[in-house]
Amino acid sequence: MKDLPFRIGHGYDIHRFGPKRPLILGGVEIPHNRGLEAHSDGDCLSHAIADAIFGALGLADIGHFFPNEDPSCKGLDSMKILEKALQECNSNGYSLGNIDATIVTESPKIGPHIQSMKAVLSKALDISPSLLGIKATTNEGIGGIGNGDGIAAFAVCLVLGEPT
Ligand SMILES: [Zn+2]
Repeated sequence: MKDLPFRIGHGYDIHRFGPKRPLILGGVEIPHNRGLEAHSDGDCLSHAIADAIFGALGLADIGHFFPNEDPSCKGLDSMKILEKALQECNSNGYSLGNIDATIVTESPKIGPHIQSMKAVLSKALDISPSLLGIKATTNEGIGGIGNGDGIAAFAVCLVLGEPT
């Protein structure tokens, strides 16, 4: 079967707020009174992006590569997850195109941190920051996210190239 010269992928992730944890989004620590509970560092933006990449390649999701039951994944730096996603992308014969992501949270304000996130993520993914879109919105007070229970992120990505 003939493969495509480009593919799209989509990723979604959500984590609940918990006490006594740093809030890390897009590899950047954001001052806040709560962080995101997770086996890893809880960086839902990076997780959504990684799943978008894995999805574009037709691979299994993040939990397959970094199982919750694996003690070595405890407190895992999500930049390692992005490194793995990039590695899989390249070893499957593709290169990353552009990525677009949306963070959904009532608080804290994300806008002031977007440029830092773009700098960190584009370095981890080895793409130009201009190929990375990061936006933030609230959930208008609706549902769990609207109640401030946690943060969600969506991401889409394009991968390009001839498969090996
Ligand atoms: Zn996650």
